[in-house]
Amino acid sequence: MRPRLLLATSNLHKVVEIRNILGKCLEILYFGDFLLETPEEWGRTLRENALIKARYGYEKTGYPSLGEDTGLFVDALNGAPGIFSSRFAGKNATDKENREKLLYLMKGEENRKASFVTVLAYYDGERVEFFEGVLEGEISREERGSFGFGYDPIFIPKGYNNTLAEMGMEEKNRISHRYKAVRKFLRWYVSVL
Ligand code: IMP
Repeated sequence: MRPRLLLATSNLHKVVEIRNILGKCLEILYFGDFLLETPEEWGRTLRENALIKARYGYEKTGYPSLGEDTGLFVDALNGAPGIFSSRFAGKNATDKENREKLLYLMKGEENRKASFVTVLAYYDGERVEFFEGVLEGEISREERGSFGFGYDPIFIPKGYNNTLAEMGMEEKNRISHRYKAVRKFLRWYVSVL
């Protein structure tokens, strides 16, 4: 039987991506399996927010938990939206509204460099461990593609011509910020299991 791990999120897109990477080794549960909502993310860093989710997940379910927080950091905007990526266009903003605000702010801007950063926090009632993955790239001039979620339609990874939303999950999962962080976690987890 595969060991169980709680992915402390209600975002099904993240669950599908992470199951695609870890599913053979671990049984990945998520907040939806326990009718839990994501707790308020009041941290000042991706690390703090990831740990808030991991602790909450462990306390509510008793399973070893992996909290995940991702931000998009845009050079020309001094790192914005960063930890505020999900609330960039307002508290209950949709992904589309967030993308539109970003494209609007980047109108006419030549420096389009940006990076996605994912931080994972593991918590099992005793141990706390962090894992990070970074994907460098640039912000496109318009939305392209319909796969993925969030800022995928406006992010072109370095060395590619397509946005993440034009790639599809298999290809995104070979290079992404989330993939890199999850692989680091897996290498560590199998060594301590
Ligand atoms: P959070 O980690 O769930 O707080 O997500 C922060 C924001 O980044 C949300 O607007 C997500 O839609 C977006 N986001 C998170 N991961 C990705 C990704 O892999 N691609 C594109 N957007 C993402």
